[in-house]
Amino acid sequence: CGIVGYIGKAKASEVVIKGLERLEYRGYDSCGVTYFNEAKKEFITNKGIGRVASLYQEFKYPESNHLGIGHTRWATHGVANYQNTHPHYSQSNRFIIVHNGVIDNHKELVYKYLPDYNFRSDTDTEVIVNLVEEFSKKRTVEEAIRKTISLLDGSYAFLILDTEDTNHIYAVKNKSPLLIGESKEGIVLGSDVLAFVDYADDYYLLEDNSVIIVEKNQDQYSFKVTDAVGFESNHLKKLPMDFI
Ligand code: GLU
Repeated sequence: CGIVGYIGKAKASEVVIKGLERLEYRGYDSCGVTYFNEAKKEFITNKGIGRVASLYQEFKYPESNHLGIGHTRWATHGVANYQNTHPHYSQSNRFIIVHNGVIDNHKELVYKYLPDYNFRSDTDTEVIVNLVEEFSKKRTVEEAIRKTISLLDGSYAFLILDTEDTNHIYAVKNKSPLLIGESKEGIVLGSDVLAFVDYADDYYLLEDNSVIIVEKNQDQYSFKVTDAVGFESNHLKKLPMDFI
């Protein structure tokens, strides 16, 4: 299981799929990617059961795509089939998530906060993305994510895309691995530093309960790391990629 996200000048689908291939050693049963097709102005999701290479072979990726997320799944809730393969969309299709880990209280959360939601998979993951959708009705996306994680019990590293905003990736890390890689060309997020080879000059370790907002502003790429309630982390550990 592994996750990768990218926003930058390179082709996102390629960065994400290559990153997922480098995370194959972590084990998985199915995989998927979502990227933003700039020519058509739409988000496209491709999923496959089995090897990451099948995502290259079966699907064509446009030149112009600079925002994407991907996942290799080690099924914990729901069998290894297409429908349970990440990325998962929220009910209205506004938000898209990839998640590693387990949400222990997902059933209680559905019962309490999402009784009228239709779920399209058997995963515990779908509750996260639907909570973000529910809470974003009266909050900013960032606040909706903070409210969501204040309710989650379990382990999670997840990435969220908002289909109404192609300049940001939201990420959260708690008890599952997640790192950030950076270069002038873009920002890459992944479960292991191996996912950043060729795409980052430096990388950062993240503490549990971090909320990360990655931003594209014209040609500049940056990120902000905060704790669960929103205070900026000022003790980020930055490491060079030169050990590879
Ligand atoms: N619990 C989630 C699922 O079963 C994520 C599993 C993983 O970490 O790959 O889909």
